[in-house]
Amino acid sequence: MQLYGLDYLVNEHQRIFWLYLASSALIASLYLWFNPAYRKGALSGALWWHASARLDYLYFFVSALIKIFVLVPLLLGTEEVALAVVSWLQEHFGYVTPLRWEKSTIVAFYTFALFLASDFTRYWLHRLMHEIPPLWRFHRVHHSAEVLTPITFYRVHPVENLIFGLRYALSAGTVTGLFVYFFGARLGGVEFFGVNLFVFLFSLLGANLRHSHLPVRFGKALEKWVVSPYMHQYHHSVEGSRKNYGGALSLWDRLFGTLHIEKGRELTFGINEKGVHHSIMALLFEPFKTMIKG
Ligand SMILES: [Zn+2]
Ligand SMILES: [Zn+2]
Repeated sequence: MQLYGLDYLVNEHQRIFWLYLASSALIASLYLWFNPAYRKGALSGALWWHASARLDYLYFFVSALIKIFVLVPLLLGTEEVALAVVSWLQEHFGYVTPLRWEKSTIVAFYTFALFLASDFTRYWLHRLMHEIPPLWRFHRVHHSAEVLTPITFYRVHPVENLIFGLRYALSAGTVTGLFVYFFGARLGGVEFFGVNLFVFLFSLLGANLRHSHLPVRFGKALEKWVVSPYMHQYHHSVEGSRKNYGGALSLWDRLFGTLHIEKGRELTFGINEKGVHHSIMALLFEPFKTMIKG
């Protein structure tokens, strides 16, 4: 029997790709070396075998199954969106002669534009998931985790996965369509293992520690630009959930007034509704139940 989800370990597009896990483990070891006070908590069964963490492990496999059999067939492809954008532009503005920029310049711009557009739309969609009540019902599944482990990244309702997947196709498809329109069809971004260079770097820089109890910070100067693990942990805290919506860049939080940077302190994770999300069934169906009840 194939266990769906285990293949994520060798999929460079997944947060738990072995290399990203290894680099996060390395950063965590260094952090614990210099901050011995965190060692006991970081390795304790009370964290890794907490009821919330155990539910995450189980839900991870259920969610991977749902993704393969329900979500993937529903998702739009980036190429389809790109083609639609190119034909819309040609219809409304006619054909343009492709700009003759240096190939390496186009590739660099394209790689950066893809990353920037995706991170920008991710910020806004994440923020809307918090601010619009029907969307919050789905997003709070992610926030209901009471302890954070790298697997908590996958505690996301299928409806949210679907919305975020469509957002990615629209954002990457629009950028690709624009580049094809202006520079011709021979495009390619800078990729590492088939992953956008910036996404790869971000994943390598301890992205897995965002869902952990190690308050790893990048320093105030860098945190004005990039989301550190601790900044995402603050977003998971009861008091901080309306701050730090950023994916990779905190620039958006700074521009739109939701940035919160502070020294690491003890945080309480979760939402103020105990006992609502304590089973697989609850994670999957509670958002619909509350929707029907109003
Ligand atoms: Zn959130
Ligand atoms: Zn999270």
